Amino acid sequence: MSFAPTRLRHFQVLLLAYVLSGWLGFALGALHHDADLIALWLPGGIALIMLLMLGWWGVPAILIGSLAVHVPLIVGHLHARQGALYLGTLALIDLLQAWLAMRAWRGREARLHAPLIRRTHDLIWFWVQVCLLPVAVTTPLIAALQSTMHLLPDQDPDTLVRQVLTLALAGFGGLLLVAPCYVVWRDRSRWPWRSLPWRTWWPSTLICVVVLAAFWFYPPGLTLVLPLLLAKTIHYRWPGMAVSVLLVGLACWVGTVLGFGPFVDTSAHLAFVNLQLFLFSTAVMLQYLALAHEMLLRQHWQMEAEVKQRTEALASANARLEELATTDELTGVPNRREWQRRCAHAVMLARRHQQPMAVLLLDLDHFKQVNDTYGHLIGDLTLRTVSRACQESLRGSDSFGRWGGEEFVALLPDTPLEDAQQVAEKLRHAVSAAQIKLDNAPVPSMAVTVSIGVARLHASDADLDTLLTRADHALYFAKQTGRNRVVLETELPADGPRL
Ligand code: GH3
Ligand code: MG
Ligand code: MG
Repeated sequence: MSFAPTRLRHFQVLLLAYVLSGWLGFALGALHHDADLIALWLPGGIALIMLLMLGWWGVPAILIGSLAVHVPLIVGHLHARQGALYLGTLALIDLLQAWLAMRAWRGREARLHAPLIRRTHDLIWFWVQVCLLPVAVTTPLIAALQSTMHLLPDQDPDTLVRQVLTLALAGFGGLLLVAPCYVVWRDRSRWPWRSLPWRTWWPSTLICVVVLAAFWFYPPGLTLVLPLLLAKTIHYRWPGMAVSVLLVGLACWVGTVLGFGPFVDTSAHLAFVNLQLFLFSTAVMLQYLALAHEMLLRQHWQMEAEVKQRTEALASANARLEELATTDELTGVPNRREWQRRCAHAVMLARRHQQPMAVLLLDLDHFKQVNDTYGHLIGDLTLRTVSRACQESLRGSDSFGRWGGEEFVALLPDTPLEDAQQVAEKLRHAVSAAQIKLDNAPVPSMAVTVSIGVARLHASDADLDTLLTRADHALYFAKQTGRNRVVLETELPADGPRL
C-alpha cells in the first residue's frame, strides 16, 4: 500500500485535529464544576474523515489519536496494566464507531453510484445511519467500560442515564458538524468558488462572531445568529452552512461550559442537552436548506444547458434548411430561386449605376442521349463535371447557378456583350474539354457539348426576367442552328427565332 506525500500530510493534519479537539473537549468539560463531561466530541467526526480519506491508514491514525487523547485522563486514576487495558479498549470502541459510520457512508455511495450528501433525501439517511446508529452502538460500550473500571463516580441511576445521554449526544453532534466539512473538502470542485461573493464572507463572519460573543452576556441575542446563518447558507450554500454551523457550535459550546448563554441550566447535563438540541435543529435545518437550494440551482443550470443545446441544434437545423433551400443538391451551386434572388439585386444596382451586365443561358446538347446511353448515374456525374468546369472558368464576381434539368445560368456583372461572348466561348470550350471520370477513369467515347444564349442588360429592361427571355431566345436559336455554339441576342433574326 503506497503512502503518498499528500496522504502523509492528511494523516498528520487529521491526527493533530483529532488530538487537539479531543483535548479541547476534555479541557472545556473539566472547566465545568458540576460534571466532568464532554458536550461535543469532535474527534468522533474526525475519525470518520480519517477512514474516508486515509483508507486503512485511518485505523492507526484513530488508534494513535484515541490513545493520545485519553492518556492524560487516566494518569493517577488507574494502574499501568488497567490503564493500558482501558485505553486499548476505548481506542477500539472509537475505531468501531468510525468504522460503522464509514461503512454506512460507503455502502450508501456504492448503492447510489454517487457521492453521499448530494440530494435532500440523502440527509435523513446521513443523520440516522452515519451519525446516530454508530453512536447508539458505542455509547453503551463506553459507559460499560467506564463502569467496569470504576471511572464513573457513584451516582444515582438518573444522573447516570443523563450522563450517558450527554455522551451519546456529544458524539452525534461531532459527526453532524464535522462530516459536512469533509464534504466541502471532498467536493471542492462542486462549488464555483470564484463566482461566490467572497468579499461578503468576512464581514458577515465578523458579524456572526460579534453576535456570538454578545449572546454570552445577553442570551436571547443568540436568535440574531439565525438569520445570519440563513444568509450564509443561501449565499455560500453547503460550504457556508458547514463552516458557520461548526463556528456557532464551538462558540455555544465554549459559552455554555463557561456558564454563559441561553443553554445554562441548573444541571450541567441539562445545559448540554439544551445546547445539543439547538445545534441539532440548526444544523439539520440549514443542511436541508443548503441541499434544497443546491438542487434547485442544479435543475436551473441543467435547464439552461438544455435550452442552450436545443437552441444550437435549432440554429444548425435552420442553417441546414437554409442551405437545402438555396443550394442545388446535385451540383452544389445556387439553385434557381437563390440565383434569381441574388441576381435581381445585382440587376437593380447595375441599372442604377448604368453599368453593363450580361446573362448566359447554357443547355447541354442531346443530354437525353447521355442518360439513355450511359445511364442516369453518368448523367448526374456529367452535370457535376460541367458545373465545376463552368465555375472554374468564371470570375468570383460572376454568379453561376443551376436553372433546372441540364440548364445552367451565369450573370456577369460589369461585362459588355462582346466580353460576355468571349466568356461564353470559354465556357463552351471548357465543357467540351471536360472529361467525365467515373472512379478516376474517363468514361470512354463520351463527349459533351453545350449551347449558350447571351443577352445584355438594356436600360429599358424592366427586370431580370426580360433579360433572361432574350437569353433564352438566343439559346433556342443556337439549338436550331446546329448546337455546340454561342449565340448573342444581337445575332437573332429580326423576326426572332421560331419558337
Ligand atoms: P437538346 O440538345 O435539345 O437540349 O436535347 P436534350 O436531350 O438535352 O434536351 P431535353 O430537354 O429533351 O432533355 C433534357 C434531359 O436532361 C432530360 C432529363 O432526363 C435530363 N435531366 C434533367 N435533369 C437531370 C438530372 O438531374 N440528372 C440527370 N441524369 N439527367 C437529367
Ligand atoms: Mg433543356
Ligand atoms: Mg439539352
